[in-house]
Parts: sequence; C-alpha cells; structure tokens
Amino acid sequence: MHLSNSSKAELEEDIQATGRLYEHEPEPQEHVNVGTGPTNKVYKKQYFWYTITAFSILHVGAVYGIYIVATRGYWTTIIFGILLGLASGLGITAGAHRLWCHRSYNAKFPLRLLLAFLNTVAVQNNIYTWSRDHRTHHRFSETDADPYNAKRGFFFSHIGWLVTSKHPEVTRKGQTIDCSDLLEDPLVYYQRKYYFWLAAFCSFIFPAITPWKLWGEDLWVAFWFCSVTRCTFVLNGTFLVNSAAHLWGTKPYDKNTVGMEQPIVGALALGEGWHNYHHVFPWDYKTSELPWYRLNLTTMFIDAAAYLGQAYDLKTVDPKVVEQRVKRTGDGSHFKWGDEPERLEKEQQRLEQQQQSDTYPTSIDSKLLKDE
Ligand SMILES: [Zn+2]
Ligand SMILES: [Zn+2]
Repeated sequence: MHLSNSSKAELEEDIQATGRLYEHEPEPQEHVNVGTGPTNKVYKKQYFWYTITAFSILHVGAVYGIYIVATRGYWTTIIFGILLGLASGLGITAGAHRLWCHRSYNAKFPLRLLLAFLNTVAVQNNIYTWSRDHRTHHRFSETDADPYNAKRGFFFSHIGWLVTSKHPEVTRKGQTIDCSDLLEDPLVYYQRKYYFWLAAFCSFIFPAITPWKLWGEDLWVAFWFCSVTRCTFVLNGTFLVNSAAHLWGTKPYDKNTVGMEQPIVGALALGEGWHNYHHVFPWDYKTSELPWYRLNLTTMFIDAAAYLGQAYDLKTVDPKVVEQRVKRTGDGSHFKWGDEPERLEKEQQRLEQQQQSDTYPTSIDSKLLKDE
C-alpha cells in the first residue's frame, strides 16, 4: 500500500507502541496497556462464514476423530497422531515464533527445512503472515492495532480474530512493522507462494496416508484422527497463548506490561506460556527465565539442535538484568525475588526497632534467638 506524505506523517504521529521487538530498541515511553479507546477509524465487524464453517467442522471432527480411533484404530495410529501433533507444534514455537518472527536464534538449512515442513503440517497460516501478525501483536499489544487484542475478551483473542474482519488499525499501524527480512529466506518465500497446496498435502494428506500405507490403518480413521483431531488440538494449544496467557496469571517481570506467566499454557503450548517474561524479553530463545526445562519442550528442542550444530547464535538475557527488572517492575510473585520489597521493609523495621531499644532482649526474644 502506498501512502501519501500527509498520511505518512499522520501515521507517524499516531504510532504509540506498547512493546519492543528487538533487544536494541528503547523501552516505549508508555508501554502500559493503552487500551482500546475510540479511534478515528470506523470499525465495521464482518463475519467470515467460510472460516466459521471450516473451524466448526474441525472441532466437531476432532471429537469424532477421538471416538473413531478409540473404537477402531491401531494404537500405533494414536501414538503417531500425538507425536505428529507435538512435532508440528514445534514448527510453530521453535520455527515461526522463536526463529523467524523473533530471530532469537539462527538455524542451518536442514533445521530450517524441517521446521518449515512441521510449520506447514500445523496449518496456522504461512510463516510470513504468522510472523507479521505476531510482530504487530508485540508492538501494539492489547490495543486496536493488536490482531488478537485480548482486551476484546477470551473468545476474540483465542479464535474470534480469525473469523472476523481485521480492525482497520491492525492494517494501518501494521504496515509500519518491517517484515522484509522474512522473505529473504527462500523457505519462507516459497512456503508463502505455494501455501495452499503445501498445507493441503502436509496437514491433511500426509498425516492420513502415512498410517494407511505403513501399518494398514483404515484411511478414514487415520484422516479423522491424525489430520483433523491432531490439527485442532495444536491450533487450540497455540491460541491459548493469545487468550489465556493474556488474561490469567502473574506478572513477576513487569506488572505494567501485557502477558502473564501461565503454567497450564506452558505445558499445552510447548513452553510458550511464560508470557510475561516473553513480552519483556521477546528476543530470548528460551521465552522463559528458568534455566531448567520447566514445561518448556521447545527450549529443550532448540538446545538439542544447538548440540547437533544445527542451531546457533542463541540469544538470551543476562540473569543480572532479569533480577534488576524483577525487583524494579515485578508484581511480587517471582519465585526468588518476589518478596524482595516486603523483606526490605521488614529488615528496615527491625533495624529501626533495634536502634530505638537499648534494653536487654525479653525471655521470648531470647528463645527466638536460640531457635534461630
Ligand atoms: Zn502476547
Ligand atoms: Zn512472541
């Protein structure tokens, strides 16, 4: 889209970012939730009935898939469906999210090819579009320009944003996000170009014919469970990051910004539920502070890929920086430094009492001292 000079100036003036995309960028002046106040753009919501029908079929089909595989399927088909679900989830989390969108690490061609394939199996739109929407989400979190604005409620941020027309602010402010780097990767370029056919094959045909050809599963059973049920579960696991991890949880790193620490989403979205940390430090390949793999399968996968020499330049945040940030802006729920303000206050009170008192400890104090 080409903008006139006056529109460009108007847009520049109107940009109010709520989050950072890269490490070197300064903290926005007002990154506190700026809300969805009235804008000058009239928003006329339209429903995409084709997409609503497709999602309805997927969800009803997902239940049918579980029923039919439980009553007629091989156990190998169940294991294959679950493993393919986990692997395709990595195509979103380790691929589209942490590699392409946030550039939190680099990957050699074989790993990029694997992740692009798994990403297509997950059928959550092509890597370019997914990353563009997600960068817009980080930059304009929880405003009209956020494609999955959680201020519009659980349903909208979970799935509603995919079945209704975009708010004009998403398009208007979204065009200020630079995504040119994404198409420099030929895998992203060609995946986008042939996405419809690639997604049809990778997400629906390949998962169905593999159990049929390899161990003689009924094609009908394989299709409903390995294609439809598997795809629907992965879709919802990912959607929970945009909905639940923006609505419920704690904010140990920055109480003024968006995103919450949500262990249930951490487990279901392969490690993407540590969302307060992620919105504060989006360039950290771990998307969480904890050094061990607490509900973070994706970090485990990237570390394994780095061990094999396929992933490199893994970016992370100095623990000192994290500690300072927690003490400065956290909501007090951090597992290690959460009670720091309270502890300092108690210490101060104790010192003041000690200074005022020049009497000997009472018998109760003596007992406490002994116990300590
Ligand atoms: Zn978010
Ligand atoms: Zn992100």
